[in-house]
Amino acid sequence: MCKPKTHGGIGFKRLHVFNVAMLSKQGWHLLTNPNILVAHLFKARYYPNTSFAEARLGSNPSYVWHSILTAHPAIIRGSRIQIGGGRQTVIGSAPWLPDKDNSFISSTIPANITSATIDSLMVPNQRKWDYDVVADIFNSRDRDLIFRIPLGSRWDVDTWYWLPDSKGLYTVRSCYRMLDSMLSPPCSSAWRKLWQLHVPAKVKNFLWRAMANVIPTSDNLLQRRVEVQTLCPLCHSSSESIFHILVTCHFAKSCWISSVIGFNGTCLHFDQWLEELLGRCNLDECSLAAMICWGLWLNRNNKVWKGVNGRVRSVVNVAGQSLFFWQQARKSGFFPPPVHDSLAQGSVCWEKPSSGWHKCNVDAALVRSRGLISFGAVIRSAGGDFIAAKSNTLPGRFDPREAEALGVKEALDWLKKFHFKSVVLEMDSLLVFNALHDKFDYPNGFGSIIADCRALAQSLGEVAFSFVRRSANSAAHAVARMGSSMSDSGEWSFVPPP
Ligand SMILES: [Zn+2]
Repeated sequence: MCKPKTHGGIGFKRLHVFNVAMLSKQGWHLLTNPNILVAHLFKARYYPNTSFAEARLGSNPSYVWHSILTAHPAIIRGSRIQIGGGRQTVIGSAPWLPDKDNSFISSTIPANITSATIDSLMVPNQRKWDYDVVADIFNSRDRDLIFRIPLGSRWDVDTWYWLPDSKGLYTVRSCYRMLDSMLSPPCSSAWRKLWQLHVPAKVKNFLWRAMANVIPTSDNLLQRRVEVQTLCPLCHSSSESIFHILVTCHFAKSCWISSVIGFNGTCLHFDQWLEELLGRCNLDECSLAAMICWGLWLNRNNKVWKGVNGRVRSVVNVAGQSLFFWQQARKSGFFPPPVHDSLAQGSVCWEKPSSGWHKCNVDAALVRSRGLISFGAVIRSAGGDFIAAKSNTLPGRFDPREAEALGVKEALDWLKKFHFKSVVLEMDSLLVFNALHDKFDYPNGFGSIIADCRALAQSLGEVAFSFVRRSANSAAHAVARMGSSMSDSGEWSFVPPP
């Protein structure tokens, strides 16, 4: 029951894990706010010469300290240092690599480098990795991870952020998920699909109980020493199990054959059969199959408790009709589903900017084969005429959202030389657009790029950010793609790129 829904459970919280996640929050405060009064008190008592990250239980700990230290491994597992100036973080002993499993370096390196700070890996007086130095010292795993760390020019201090959360902030939910994923095996796609079906919750719940084989069929009741008839109440020719009632009984078989799903008799157990069906059919067919299973179970209960004989056609038709009416009711707003349709706001076609404005469209592309990202930016005037385009590449296997944000930063940097009075910067990444409008500073690498973008935009004059669908951003997309095939950056003025 405490397993996540995607792992075959029902998603109840594991209380111990949940408790650790709550305690971690207290530890996270001590780690990230070392200047608050309570942090001073704990430091004076338990870790006077180190930081919370290296703190140990010590002798004669208080109950509170003992409890917080229970969560210490979880805090260390999820916390990372975002490099700003790199002067506070030591290469060999700090968790600064953005890797989910191991945040420490794995290369064998000389002791003088291990104890050096991270700014020694940057180009002097620049906020840029020294690619040659990093490539010389580290193995390929560490090298790839280091090049994925964006270096913002506005942050001088190295800060802690929480890796499992996209904003880099500690949340009990993200910590619980991190700890829970360590306890659960990889999830099966069948479970995921089962909980995604567009059917009433009671039907999903029934299928989950059928997969877990906890439906009160004769075989299950006999195992619990309940005296019942062993034979199937419908065909009287075989013992009753959930697989028999829902699949192999001749009544069930006729239902499947007369529906669009068809009959598959090659499996030996219900969970195998359902897994095969969920893998083979699309979401609509799977939803119908779920309703038919539910109908077959109701039909069996009607026979057992009321002595009513059902008909094949009516089971299949009622399943289809109830599904249709239920889905219609949801669509009509009777039970409005949660809508996250902010994408609908983005324009689908490119539009000219208002009079007196210029528009710069920007896009980024990941070139995984070469371990780099490429940007493209296209400037057009209020009349829609081409003014200039630029493409450039940057080494590093960044996440898509970081790549898009770096593209925006690069475009803003490039716009400086045009001295436009007012410019619209248009992108197709909603995450970056929202982050630029958000007043909040995220403490992770993504946040450091956004901070740079905001500062650049302020220095430019009047800059408005705009979000469009990908189809309205095709020019920038094409230039970014073109940049990925060139060895160096390219720039075009007055005449558009081919
Ligand atoms: Zn039967």
